[in-house]
Amino acid sequence: MGVPCPICGRNVDRLVGGMCADCYRERNRLVEFKRFKALICGECGAVFVKGRWVKPRTGPRGLLEKLLKDHMVVRGHVDHVDVRVSIAEDALEYHVSVRGSIEPVLGDQEETHVLSVPLVIDLCPDCRANQAKREMGMVQVRGFLKPLSRTAMRKVMLIIDSVVRDSSTKNVGSIIDVEEVAGGIDVRTTTNRLARIIASEIHRNVPSRMLETQKDTGYDRSGRRTYRYTASVLVVPFEPDDILRVDGRYYMVERIGRKSVRLRDVASGGALEVPISRFTRMNVIETGMRAEIGEIVEVDGSPRLVSKGKDMGPIDTALRGRVKYVRLEDKVYIIAVA
Ligand SMILES: [Zn+2]
Ligand SMILES: [Zn+2]
Repeated sequence: MGVPCPICGRNVDRLVGGMCADCYRERNRLVEFKRFKALICGECGAVFVKGRWVKPRTGPRGLLEKLLKDHMVVRGHVDHVDVRVSIAEDALEYHVSVRGSIEPVLGDQEETHVLSVPLVIDLCPDCRANQAKREMGMVQVRGFLKPLSRTAMRKVMLIIDSVVRDSSTKNVGSIIDVEEVAGGIDVRTTTNRLARIIASEIHRNVPSRMLETQKDTGYDRSGRRTYRYTASVLVVPFEPDDILRVDGRYYMVERIGRKSVRLRDVASGGALEVPISRFTRMNVIETGMRAEIGEIVEVDGSPRLVSKGKDMGPIDTALRGRVKYVRLEDKVYIIAVA
C-alpha cells in the first residue's frame, strides 16, 4: 500500500515532512553557504578571516578552507566535511562533500557542493607598509663645490629617463621617485641593481666621481642577505675658461673630459691633466672669474692688450693675435692663444 508523495507521486511507506525521503533531501540540504568573497594578500598569502588578516604557516589553502567553513550553515547533524579548493586568477573553486543526517529517520546521507567564490588579491597592512618603505637603492647626484646647473640637471634627468626606458622590460626594479634637492637630484629605487645602473650611466656620460656604499638591512623572505645601496655621483660643474684657485695658485679650466680635467697654470702657462677622482679631492676654490678674449697688438714695436675695443695697456708677452687672458689682483695674465 503506502502513501503517495504529493511532490513526485511515488508510493512510499511514509512521508517525511509531508513528502518522500528523496524529495525531502532535495529540498533540505545538509549544509548551505552564505555568499562571501575571499581576500588574499598577494605578497605573503595572508587571508582575511573573520575581520582580520591571518598569515598562513605554509600555503593559504588551509585558511581558505577555514574561510569556507566559516560561511557554512549546517542543518541537521554533520559527521564529516571534506573541502578541496583550487585557486584561479579571480575566483576560488570549492568542492565540498558532506556526510551527515538531516532528519534522524532518514539516516546518513552524503551530498556534494561546487561553489565558485570571487577572489580579490590585495595587500595586507604589513606588506603594504613594507612595500612602501622597501627602498633598496638610492642615487645622489650632486655638484662638486656648487649646485648642478639647470643644464646639468636636465642632462641627468634625460639619462635617468633613458635608463628607465631601457630597463623597463628587464625586471631590474623600478624607480620610487626622482626628487630635486638642494642643487642636486635624489633617485630612490626598489632595487640596488637599478640604482647602480642609473649611477653608472650618469657617471659614464657626465664628468664626475662615483662613490658606492652598502648597508646591510637583514635577510629577505628566502633567507638571502639584503642590503641598501647608495651611489653618490659628484658632478664636476665647471666649464672651460673658468678660473679656479688650488693651493694658492690660479688655474684656467682648459678642457673637461669624462675622466680628467685639463688645467692651465695662469702664471706659468703650464698644463696639468688631473684625473677627476683626484680633482674632486683637491682643495679647489671657485673664483667666479672666467678667462676673457683679447688681442695682442703692436704699437710702435711694443705689444699691448686690447679687449672689447679697449686698450688695456702694455703687456709683456711674445704672443700676438687673439689670446685668452685674465686679470688677477690688478695684474693681467695672458694664458693661451684663443
Ligand atoms: Zn517524492
Ligand atoms: Zn601580506
